[in-house]
This record gives sequence, structure tokens and C-alpha cells, in this order.
Amino acid sequence: MVKNTTTKQKKVPKPPTAPKTKAKEAKLYTVTFFHNWCKSCGICSAFCLKEIIKTDAAGLPYIDDMDSCVGCRFCEIHCPDFAIAIKDRHPERRSSNGKQ
Ligand code: SF4
Ligand code: SF4
Repeated sequence: MVKNTTTKQKKVPKPPTAPKTKAKEAKLYTVTFFHNWCKSCGICSAFCLKEIIKTDAAGLPYIDDMDSCVGCRFCEIHCPDFAIAIKDRHPERRSSNGKQ
């Protein structure tokens, strides 16, 4: 009779996997323009890194897609008339059309 020479292999434990976490949602910001202080210089729309600041026929800035703002505050810092304010916005106020 032939003896079984193969040794019983030990079960190798699976490496631990990272716990599943929810994908982090982007922070939201509200950009407010104070049009009575704005002199329509266009600095904010020219330098917004997301290119979301548009200007109307009178040169006054506005944003259609507020959810795309990354809160860099570049526009707020560089506005010569302090006519822009950036504030954190809570996720429950996330809009479907990008407006606040
Ligand atoms: S930078 Fe300030 S003053 Fe110039 S257009 Fe924008 S909000 Fe108006
Ligand atoms: S905070 Fe930054 S991304 Fe948002 S509107 Fe101003 S320049 Fe654009």
C-alpha cells in the first residue's frame, strides 16, 4: 500500500480589507455678490479657476452653477471692492440645478 505523502495545506487567512466607507461628497459653498458695491471690473470672472462666474449685460457677476464652486476664495480675496462673500453651505441645501 502506497502512503499519501502530501501534507495537508494550512488555510491561509485572507488579508483584512478596508471597511467600506461612503464616498465623500464635495463641500458646498455659497457665493454672494454685493452688486451695489461692484464696479463691473470683471476680475472675479476672469480669474475664477472653475470659470463659473459669468457677467450680465451690465457687467455684473452671477453664478448659475453654484455647486461647482470649490471655495478657493480667489474671487473674494481679489475683488477690489470687497463685493464678494464666500460661505460654507450645508449638504442638505444641495440643489439640483446648481443654484442655491
Ligand atoms: S471683482 Fe468685485 S468689483 Fe470686480 S466684477 Fe467682480 S464683484 Fe465686481
Ligand atoms: S471661490 Fe473660487 S471657485 Fe468659487 S466662485 Fe470664487 S474663484 Fe470661483
